Amino acid sequence: MNLPDGLHQVADGLHLWSPGHPGTWGFANCLLIVSGTEAALVDTPYDRPMTEALIDLARPLLPVGATVGTIVNTHVNGDHTFGNGLFPGADIIATKAGAEHLCREPSPQQMHFLTHATPADEPLGRYAREHFGRYRYDDVEAVPPTVTFAGRYDLRIGGTDVELIEVGPAHSAGDLIVHLPAQRVVCAGDVLFADDHPVHWNGPLSQVAAACETILALGPEVIVPGHGPLMTPADVRRHLSYLRELAERIEAGHTAGRTASETAAAILADGFHDHLGLPERIVILTAVEYRHLDGDLSEPDLIQLAGRAAQWAYGARAPRA
Ligand SMILES: [Zn+2]
Repeated sequence: MNLPDGLHQVADGLHLWSPGHPGTWGFANCLLIVSGTEAALVDTPYDRPMTEALIDLARPLLPVGATVGTIVNTHVNGDHTFGNGLFPGADIIATKAGAEHLCREPSPQQMHFLTHATPADEPLGRYAREHFGRYRYDDVEAVPPTVTFAGRYDLRIGGTDVELIEVGPAHSAGDLIVHLPAQRVVCAGDVLFADDHPVHWNGPLSQVAAACETILALGPEVIVPGHGPLMTPADVRRHLSYLRELAERIEAGHTAGRTASETAAAILADGFHDHLGLPERIVILTAVEYRHLDGDLSEPDLIQLAGRAAQWAYGARAPRA
């Protein structure tokens, strides 16, 4: 796979590893923070080869003799955490809510099964191979956070102030954003996606929008989304319109008595923001939003949601409810 050949300096002491690849799942951004004799990393890649590639590129940027002593996980999806185990001895910080919902996340073993042992001729098996088959899940383990918090957690990496602000539940049950006030940079995690339709497993969309508002209120110049290229505050405002428009359309479908699948199919048939990649994520977003509109408080089944998106992606175009 095509991986970055370097880290890109976003601001003084901040270096971005951005694997890009619009129209794909799993290539998440990671931000290296270096100051004085210390270093931290916001999010870790999805598998061992990618994490080792990042570590090799980061090494010359680290102070002599220093290692990455702190990992921050913006949330606990595997594409932001499966590399945690390659930083032995580091503190791993996440929200308490994120840690409590780790059991909901597909493990590396489950992802390996999904990409190798599911029927390849059925939508989910085919989709899993197409979008996740490029990663290696057989030699990583999910290493949980060692430090958790609720609300807010302030860190100092060398001389750099780092504020962790809980904004979940939104994308997941336990999202946080990372604010670097002196550099005017915010890492949004998967509250924000650039280039592709977003996917949100927890929702509702109003909570994701509220998290975007929190980001804007911090007055950043540069926003690092969970996936895709860097964003400006204007990009975030545009994305807020997307979220509100989508929430309105879903609610209208719900009010009209249509099923989640019918509503998603109608939104997709209209070409909603069709310049963005992975339109099948609308199927997931709609199903998740319906759960909130229906007052369904049970734990969402991520694999089942992905299966519905896969069904649409391969031409069913009208997935079963
Ligand atoms: Zn992600």
